[in-house]
Amino acid sequence: MIYLDNAATTELCEEAREAMRPYLEEDYGNPSSIYLFAQRAKGAVEESRRKLSELMGVSPMELYFTGGGTESDNWALISGIESTGKRHIISSKIEHHAVLRSCAYLEKRGFSVTYLDVDERGRVEPAAVLEAIRDETGLISIMSANNEIGTIEPISEISEIAGERGILFHTDAVQAFGQLPLPLGKSRIDLLSASAHKIRGPKGVGLLYMRRGVKLPPYLHGGEQERGRRAGTENVAAIAGFAAAAERAFRTMKERGEKERRMRDYLIRRLTTEIPDCCLNGDPEERLPNNVNVCIRGVEAEPLLLLLDQRGIAASAGSACASGSLDPSHVILALGASREDAYGSLRLSLDERLSREDADRVVSEIKRIADYLRRE
Ligand code: PLP
Repeated sequence: MIYLDNAATTELCEEAREAMRPYLEEDYGNPSSIYLFAQRAKGAVEESRRKLSELMGVSPMELYFTGGGTESDNWALISGIESTGKRHIISSKIEHHAVLRSCAYLEKRGFSVTYLDVDERGRVEPAAVLEAIRDETGLISIMSANNEIGTIEPISEISEIAGERGILFHTDAVQAFGQLPLPLGKSRIDLLSASAHKIRGPKGVGLLYMRRGVKLPPYLHGGEQERGRRAGTENVAAIAGFAAAAERAFRTMKERGEKERRMRDYLIRRLTTEIPDCCLNGDPEERLPNNVNVCIRGVEAEPLLLLLDQRGIAASAGSACASGSLDPSHVILALGASREDAYGSLRLSLDERLSREDADRVVSEIKRIADYLRRE
């Protein structure tokens, strides 16, 4: 199989598997228990927090483990706005559903939300953020990089705009974490969400970074775990796997990114020049190194994906949560595309292991299938 759906999830890396093993087997104690055996599990959680904080250039006290990107986003949005006592949120039309549906939940409870437009490359304009700010604005949430089209957003600039006005700034960095250097020390990001399974760690674990001085109320209520802010027995093995995967991702970021960028640009060039009426979605430069998203006019993504699957190629039409539904991607529509074009968008998210040979096979299969579907 040629796996080109790394934005949906990734294969567990060896480093994460090894780091998890002791806590799945012998060291299964509850980190809240007092005997030595359980304290080894507690030690693993704290050591993982320390490793992650070092990689991110922040303090361990600023990191809270969660059950993944979705929980981090819900916590940041829902508890974030509640903590400010204000009633207005600014976000964008191309956020992940974890953010958009948290916003919709808040709207039902009387908060108001401005969903900013993006330009044809998927960029949120800092000037538009500035214009949308009201006295009642308590929180701005803009993603670091988009999961469907890979566009990298100007979050440093936007965080400055928010910071200068005392507005909380959250960024969903689930796709950017471990792929791009994060501007944490140099910007005014208050809250940042990340998830392990996008960087070859395990599923169901993530983190929320909370800048020192920012204190969100708990979102999950119960025990005293995570310094009383996130109740629930820690998923020790997953946390250890997350830290190991992050170590690998940050250590290899530059070299891996270069390899991915080369293959990304190769795929984009061949697809958009060799397939008639095929164009790139998103920004050609300000783009995640592993994201290819093209629109093949007149070809629906669904049958294309099924035929690619039969040929051993796993890809996607957009976000995994949206695929399987008949709605066209809200992200592609926000770029100004027609519904028909939004149905014809194909996302290939690669990793550094994609060889030139496999890329060539992918291009020739897509060409052949697109040609077949157009003649149908
Ligand atoms: N935010 C973005 C941008 C994502 O791509 C995803 C995963 O698809 C999530 C949030 C949700 O993360 P998780 O799957 O860890 O809940």
